[in-house]
Amino acid sequence: MCYNDVMRTLTVKLYNSDDFGYLSDMINIAGIIYNTALTIIQNHYTETGKLLDKYELQKQLRGLRNVDENHHWRYVGSQAVQEITDRIYRAYRLFFTNREKGVKCSPPRRRKVKKYKSVTYKQAGYKFLPDGRISINGHIYRYWDSYDGLLERIEIKTVTVKRSILGEFFVYVTTDSPATMREARDGRGEVGMDFGLKMFLTLSDGSVIRSPEFFRQGVADIRKASRALSRKVMGSNGYESALKALYRRHQDIANRRRDWFWKLSHELCSRYGVIAIEDLNIKGMARMWGRKVHDYAFSEFVEILEWCARKYGTRVIRIGRYYPSSQTCSACGHVWPSTKDLSIREWTCPECGVYHDRDVNAAVNILAEAKRIMNRMEQAKDA
Ligand SMILES: [Zn+2]
Repeated sequence: MCYNDVMRTLTVKLYNSDDFGYLSDMINIAGIIYNTALTIIQNHYTETGKLLDKYELQKQLRGLRNVDENHHWRYVGSQAVQEITDRIYRAYRLFFTNREKGVKCSPPRRRKVKKYKSVTYKQAGYKFLPDGRISINGHIYRYWDSYDGLLERIEIKTVTVKRSILGEFFVYVTTDSPATMREARDGRGEVGMDFGLKMFLTLSDGSVIRSPEFFRQGVADIRKASRALSRKVMGSNGYESALKALYRRHQDIANRRRDWFWKLSHELCSRYGVIAIEDLNIKGMARMWGRKVHDYAFSEFVEILEWCARKYGTRVIRIGRYYPSSQTCSACGHVWPSTKDLSIREWTCPECGVYHDRDVNAAVNILAEAKRIMNRMEQAKDA
């Protein structure tokens, strides 16, 4: 699909919902309509040797929609059906152009309905509501609003609901609204990030992203729940419910943490074109903090960040674990092993006299190393 330069796609993830079945049904039906449309086109081609006119196809689909046994087709609005036919004709046009140029290619094919991924709306069928909610054909879903209510205010071209293979749902919004253009014009920056416990991230520009309070609260809750469990006799009624309570605490915290990671990842990827991070030694970190809960958290965050980055076209560069990012002076390159001591939060370089905040200095070094890596990669490509 090709949009002009100023068109932007904004993505949000929907919260888990009991009502996802509705979206799934809708996407499946869109898949059936897509396959039906292709069959009509192919039959017409076999009979006449010509590509069926798009409006003729749309007329036939409208006819089929009014047949009783297809009454569920009405879940998918007429706009969305039109988008499906537009999509098919775009694919055919591409196919014919390629064939003329002698490029090897095949016409659009039928797809398994289960693998059909999305349905697109133009003007109707959706509405963004206050407080991070969207109505899709009257069904209300909540989404992680990393755009601070922007989606409610801007003029929208299309809304695509996508189903991932994991059964998650994402909403892709295309817009040419100037409100979203500032970032694109400025060009996205580059950033190095240092992970920590209290400051979840320290960025190379000196800004910090604090761990949310529920991280700490979560650890306390889990501790309380496991103490309660340890006081119960195994196999008793009380044991069973204490075990369930502990499990619920874990689930609860894992969910909130994941949601926060998504939101943060969207924010970072929309802001930065290059993100440099350290490949983490999770075991070493767990020992350092003595908090098991964080073992997975960082690798989980990096996973979500990298997934998000692909959507935004952001490059995530991982720096080798053994690069001494916190022991190197980012001003003169002097390596000073005394700073290995984690209790040293700030230091002055004995070589050049520059004063450093431990984490910011590390983040600056991580970015610098990422740039060296990218340069080497460029050179290798040129050679
Ligand atoms: Zn120095």
